Amino acid sequence: GLLSRLKDRRGLDELWALLPEARLVGGSVRDLLRGVPVHDLDLATSDAPEDVLKILKAGGVKVIPTGLAHGTVTAVIRGEPYEITTLRRDEETDGRHAVVAWTTDWAEDAARRDFTINAMSLDRHDVLHDYFGGIQDLADHRVRFVGEAGRRIDEDALRALRFFRFDARYGHGEPDAEACHAISKRLELIDALSAERIASELLRILTGPRVVETLSVMKDVGLLAHLVPASDVHALRRLLACQAPEEALLRLFALCHADWSGLGERLKLSNAERDRLRQFGDNTPTLGPAMSDDDLRRARFQQSLPVLLDRSWLTQAFALGARDKGWDVFRERLQQLPQPVFPLTGQDAKDAGLLPGPAMGAWLKAGQSWWLKEGCRPDGKACLAYLVKTSEMARKSD
Ligand code: ATP
Ligand code: MG
Repeated sequence: GLLSRLKDRRGLDELWALLPEARLVGGSVRDLLRGVPVHDLDLATSDAPEDVLKILKAGGVKVIPTGLAHGTVTAVIRGEPYEITTLRRDEETDGRHAVVAWTTDWAEDAARRDFTINAMSLDRHDVLHDYFGGIQDLADHRVRFVGEAGRRIDEDALRALRFFRFDARYGHGEPDAEACHAISKRLELIDALSAERIASELLRILTGPRVVETLSVMKDVGLLAHLVPASDVHALRRLLACQAPEEALLRLFALCHADWSGLGERLKLSNAERDRLRQFGDNTPTLGPAMSDDDLRRARFQQSLPVLLDRSWLTQAFALGARDKGWDVFRERLQQLPQPVFPLTGQDAKDAGLLPGPAMGAWLKAGQSWWLKEGCRPDGKACLAYLVKTSEMARKSD
């Protein structure tokens, strides 16, 4: 049975003792079928939200009303969260806000879910309920809308992006032609979505195992141009060919390297994410296996190791676009290198009876420039000697 694939089902059984009608739904069922670890335990139930709250509280379970208006509560059992949502039926929609009503009909709830592979449910007897052929579609790596693609996207345009999120993860071969056609006819609906939702879906697409195939189709149907300007899927392909870390932001930068300056704004990325994009965009000095140890130490003094490693993947993607031993050795060298520290403080200089007063900062800066020029090799004594020499020269020329 599928339930035996769960690492630990004691919490679930405790929940089922209180809510026997509840079933696992959505991603958790999909993950169980695929035999991969389940990351979120989402359940649906025919019980009304107030009843769910009452029953769980009476059973001594900690409950958080996380989305009561949508019929969702979160039960915490054995430290694990379980999201429980009352079955819903769409009454009407204006493309963004669905008006929902509770229902006790599982098929109705399944019909309002987006894709066949997301519309299955699993009950406490380990019986899998598959309303729209999701088992077969999952086995065939097919992402297919429940119902008519065009109508489902008109109801909620985010589904166009979700289609590609799941295609990037589970798809194989050509994505569903009806869905692609429907999306290509509805691109203007995408522009009405919030930047945050677009960004969140795009970043998920970017970490999908077949991101390049998916993005190529998104480009062909005209969708990609609605999300980011001047995309370069080929550059992303080269980054993947280098076997760079599977990291969404790195991939986003490769995709958008030709025009990334307004990207953070456009996608409403966090300040930390924008900082990283800026660091990726700074290509001085040019990293690569040809760098001398002096160059490398200088770069390491000016930038943190994670940033340098990230940049090295991007540079390798643009310069070579393939796995390469030389670049691996280069990154190894980078990692072995201790962070250089300028070996002289103002106190050292004072102790040596040197340069008191406001000029001190300027002198130290000059000393650091020289030390950097020398590949961060001179020690404190050598730096001090350099400062003494230059200060004497300055005094003579006064
Ligand atoms: P993931 O592993 O990425 O979390 P998931 O299937 O759990 O995948 P969620 O976004 O967490 O995806 O949504 C949970 C479930 O809710 C989906 O499986 C689907 O059944 C339903 N769902 C979510 N968003 C929509 C939507 N916009 N339209 C229809 N159904 C949706
Ligand atoms: Mg989920």
